Amino acid sequence: MSCWPPLDDLKVHTVRARGDSFLKYTAVNQVTIDNALLSKAIDLATANVANGQRPFGALLVDGEEIVTQAVNEAARSNDPTDHAEIVAIRHATSLLNADCLDALTLYASCEPCCMCASAILWAGVRRVVFALAREDAHEYGFHDVVGPEISRRLLSAISVTQVRSLDRAAREPFEAWKLRNASDS
Ligand SMILES: [Zn+2]
Repeated sequence: MSCWPPLDDLKVHTVRARGDSFLKYTAVNQVTIDNALLSKAIDLATANVANGQRPFGALLVDGEEIVTQAVNEAARSNDPTDHAEIVAIRHATSLLNADCLDALTLYASCEPCCMCASAILWAGVRRVVFALAREDAHEYGFHDVVGPEISRRLLSAISVTQVRSLDRAAREPFEAWKLRNASDS
């Protein structure tokens, strides 16, 4: 499990929102809430590996409320566009019945690729928070079709934050992926 902020800093309670039950986080500051939500995205990525899929998770959040959570589904669907960020965008636009998600923040366990960066812009998302850098994902065999500078240039139009304090936790799903593939061979 990834490292969650101290409970003293975080009031966690369950809310029923938009048909699903999610944890809602009331934090003392944005850094604390960013860490909590990003930790959840990382945990989703780790769980996804245990489910036979790829080590990526994402959340779309309205303030402190999780609107939707998603994982990379490409290994199951054979759809190469089923990255966690895009799956989250599809869920959220469907749930909200809207094609503009400009009130939402995207939390991603790994820095978005160029395809997801484009989708994030098209969806109108204005803020992205991520943990592991693309270059670090490359170590585990996940390469962009183009260099990460393309996605960074695209996302330079909006607010992007990398939470480096979660770097170690962000490697956990990738380490699980590496271990699983080693045991498969
Ligand atoms: Zn992507």
